[in-house]
Amino acid sequence: MPSYAELGITPMINANATLTRLGGSLMPPEVLEAMMEAAKSFVELPELQRQVGNRIALLTQNEACYVSSGAAGGIVVAIAACITGNEKWAIEQLPDLTGLKSEVIVHKAHRNGYDHAVRQVGVKMVEIGWPGEAEVWHLERAINEKTAAVIWFEGAMRTPGDIPLEKVVDVAHAHGVPVLVDAAAQLPPVENLWKFTQLGADAAIFSGGKDLRGPQSSGLVLGKQWIVDACALNGNPNHGIGRPMKVGKEEMLGLLAAVERYLAMDHEARASQMEEIVEGWCTELNRLDGVTATRSFPSEANQPAPRAQVQIDPSVVGRTRQEINQGLQQGNPAVSVAYGVADETFMLNPMTLEDGEEEIVLARLVEEIQG
Ligand SMILES: *Cc1c(COP(=O)(O)O)cnc(C)c1O
Repeated sequence: MPSYAELGITPMINANATLTRLGGSLMPPEVLEAMMEAAKSFVELPELQRQVGNRIALLTQNEACYVSSGAAGGIVVAIAACITGNEKWAIEQLPDLTGLKSEVIVHKAHRNGYDHAVRQVGVKMVEIGWPGEAEVWHLERAINEKTAAVIWFEGAMRTPGDIPLEKVVDVAHAHGVPVLVDAAAQLPPVENLWKFTQLGADAAIFSGGKDLRGPQSSGLVLGKQWIVDACALNGNPNHGIGRPMKVGKEEMLGLLAAVERYLAMDHEARASQMEEIVEGWCTELNRLDGVTATRSFPSEANQPAPRAQVQIDPSVVGRTRQEINQGLQQGNPAVSVAYGVADETFMLNPMTLEDGEEEIVLARLVEEIQG
């Protein structure tokens, strides 16, 4: 069997975040078994997509669900769905928008790298407001006959000055414009699987490969039946803009298993476990000269999850953050941690750790700090 080792690839302990660059998350046995099971037989793929979608919709209190190729792929097909509906000619014509709606409205403050997935459909993004300050009239003025959708990025891009999502929904719906929420990294809390759609969003889009720990190349579009139907028409095996974003039978069953597992999890116990790990890290690290460790909350993606913020004083420790980080990356096992916003600061995240790895992360960090 091929292995990472044989390829000269060093496996890493991830105390950073559910970063695609590091492989996102680790699939638990239930998910792997479901993928193995799916891999054993041929099936009618569109029918499997429908049945898995029905099951996940029921489990997450949504009208419908489409399994996409990651949240980014979900954004592409959901935007396409808002433009084409079930019109075959429009699906065939994309990304040429002649005669079709061609604008998507977004809060200026929400602009981020993932809006490439929106623009990929050919639309122009119309920004409303100033960073951190948007008013209802901004939205009212931006809506016109070319508006295909409003997209709302939930997470670290949010600001207190945004028009509240409920209000965005009210105004958009009054003009017959659908609202999509990119909630890719908004788990935990588990309730977010139904929160945004219950607030009135027409669809909320999640990564399957972040905290859900489903297949890396999977995602969820949860919401209105018409959007899900139109996503399917724009996606594989049909020849549409989503055809290159293939979702396989293994991803479909794997993601279903991941959603079932996530809903059955004891999220309170898990939250306390993360708190314990962070507290343990802080206690131990604060014993070192030149190190100040404190609990940081919420996480970088605005999830209600704690991290340890570890500030080092290079004049006392004798090593800089960069030197320590290099040591962590080149060590065996390699450990990935994030930099904090403040100078000489690390952020340690328990979310992506396997049982017991918190000890290794601590030991490696202490070793590197002590040089
Ligand atoms: C991670 C992320 C995505 C992309 O999700 P994938 O499942 O990796 O495609 C999109 N939007 C936001 C805000 C994200 O955090």
